[in-house]
Amino acid sequence: MALNLLMLGPPGAGKGTQSERFARTRGIPKISTGDILREAVHEGTDVGRRAKAIMDRGELVSDEVMIGIVRERLERADARGGFVLDGFPRTVAQASALDRIMDGRDPLIVVDIVVPEEELVRRLGGRLICENCGANAPMAATATAPCLKCGGRLVQRADDDQAVVLERLKVYHRMSEPLVEYYKIRPTFRSIDGAQAPDRVAADLVAAIEAAGSGALRQGVKG
Ligand code: AMP
Repeated sequence: MALNLLMLGPPGAGKGTQSERFARTRGIPKISTGDILREAVHEGTDVGRRAKAIMDRGELVSDEVMIGIVRERLERADARGGFVLDGFPRTVAQASALDRIMDGRDPLIVVDIVVPEEELVRRLGGRLICENCGANAPMAATATAPCLKCGGRLVQRADDDQAVVLERLKVYHRMSEPLVEYYKIRPTFRSIDGAQAPDRVAADLVAAIEAAGSGALRQGVKG
């Protein structure tokens, strides 16, 4: 059975870090819509040019564009054996489109990473990424350290500016938090405490996926 994992949670919950780590250990692709958009901005493509202003304000790129990007990405051969989806869906319309995309494939396992609001604001304010390759720097990194992946300069993400952080959290509560209601009735939904140290979160994530996987088997038997 393919492991099709979807990570939910507010900006700053650690979805990116945990998705990356989990995907690497399982040898499946991590598909981050934020990374895909940042790459498009970097490359100056049409989508990138239109997305940049929206991202800089902390708002959401249109459902139509995002659903197209994800549909195309999930059809690629490397996603057939499983994937970790990070940053999508962010609206209920995206979630129902994803259900249609997933029709006939193994069920989605959905893990929600829960972190208190004050902690999110603190984390987002201190987050650094590489100016050159876009990689996230470890939380303890300082702006004078080089990127661990490519040696590039570390800078604050444009949308981690305080006013934008508050807007992104507002957008999360309004548009994305309803996704918890959307998914939580499924036997494959679990939530984990993301306020712990990253290693503990990673261990809880594995346990949650195993528990949700038995939910997926039950769902498979029923459906
Ligand atoms: P992230 O790296 O996931 O925090 O995404 C950075 C920004 O990209 C978001 O604040 C949005 O502007 C945009 N974005 C990423 N994923 C989506 C999505 N699924 N729907 C709409 N906008 C998105």
